[in-house]
Amino acid sequence: MAPLDTPRSLSPNELEPYWVPFTPNRAFKKRPRLFAGAKGMHYFKPDGTKVLDGSSGLFCVNAGHGREPITKAIQQAAATLDFAPPFMYATPQVFELSSRLAMLAPGDLDHVLFANSGSEAVDTALKVALAYHRARGEGSRTRFIGRERGYHGVGFGGISVGGIPGNRKMFGNMLYGVDHLPTTYDRSKQAFTVGEPEWGAHLADELNRLIALHDASTIAAVIVEPVAGSTGALPPPKGYLERLRTITAQHGILLILDEVITGFGRMGHAFAADRYNIVPDMITFAKGVTNGAVPMSGVMVRKGIYEAHMTGPEHVVELFHGYTYSGHPLAVAAGLATLDLYRDEGLFERAKQLEPAFAEAMMSLKGLPAVVDIRPCGLICGIDLEPLPGRPAARGYDVIERIYHELNLYVRVTGDTLIVSPPLIATQAHLEEIRDGIAAALKTMI
Ligand code: PLP
Repeated sequence: MAPLDTPRSLSPNELEPYWVPFTPNRAFKKRPRLFAGAKGMHYFKPDGTKVLDGSSGLFCVNAGHGREPITKAIQQAAATLDFAPPFMYATPQVFELSSRLAMLAPGDLDHVLFANSGSEAVDTALKVALAYHRARGEGSRTRFIGRERGYHGVGFGGISVGGIPGNRKMFGNMLYGVDHLPTTYDRSKQAFTVGEPEWGAHLADELNRLIALHDASTIAAVIVEPVAGSTGALPPPKGYLERLRTITAQHGILLILDEVITGFGRMGHAFAADRYNIVPDMITFAKGVTNGAVPMSGVMVRKGIYEAHMTGPEHVVELFHGYTYSGHPLAVAAGLATLDLYRDEGLFERAKQLEPAFAEAMMSLKGLPAVVDIRPCGLICGIDLEPLPGRPAARGYDVIERIYHELNLYVRVTGDTLIVSPPLIATQAHLEEIRDGIAAALKTMI
């Protein structure tokens, strides 16, 4: 490597030093896929070629790319206050963003703790659950219940409650005493369903079995995504989340909805909790809160949970938790400008109106080679491809190579599943272009 005083123009710019996350590095570095700019519905390759964004970056750029009010707010914040300590001090704007989020969140989810990534938000929520029960004299409630095929980020908390074998098997001991609900997905009962499937609400009753096994007095919280996003967009069966809410409430168990993907309009509402008409005890959010422009995440917490901590001498810290960058001024500025945009452009409502056209475009891919299921719900859709025998994920990788290099389209792939999730500003023409690009890739795939 060049020494620190090498002029930047002469320093090496090699592919090897960067360990690309969640990516097959050797294949990627043979034929990299690069984005050098973005505006509206498109990315730009380094040579200026437009690439249609079919997955909102990574489910975060809900208002489209390069939105001027957000850019300006970030620039102004950087020039005014680059950083302020979040412990023992605060900025005026962080209170404003918190109040706006409290107004947006359902029920009495009136308090917010900020973090920087979805993974940190999940860790934060799990810790708050433990602290809450302890503050109320129920310190035996230390067990968490996650769900098979759940994704809650990559921290030790998130992989423990998550249900993706590949994310867990390499990392040895995780959180103690975690158990999992079964996945709500069964292709034999649900294939090619538009929206929430009819079959599967009874799977929420599995929680009663886990309560009988472990005893409610040992269980702190249940954490699920309303729509399991990263394992392929698995919508909840009709009535499933409502049942989970009822059972958790009956047993004093907290319900955490991980809305890192579903928050901020993706399901046609501010939060998926609104779509399903439930008030969870905590909501984790990230991604869309700043339209992806600056890292920010957080946990919305019910009033009673916050208040349970507001005891003891007033000069003593109530919750020993926080990050150096909790409520960072640039992220707060981006968050406020993003919420203004969502409101002024009616983007959550727009997502709701686009849902039928999106579902129709996606369902029209039925019958193409290797397509074994399509699951549109809100503005997210999983498309499962039959894996090549003995070569899982090969087809998925082939599709992303083809759509980037040959068709100038970007769609998220996980294994052999495509996850389409366009920005909420998409038009009918964009939806059709995404559909046509996927169709073209499927017709020529390996
Ligand atoms: N929780 C859910 C539901 C997610 O979808 C994700 C990321 O996609 C995370 C947590 C982790 O977020 P991050 O990658 O910002 O840590």
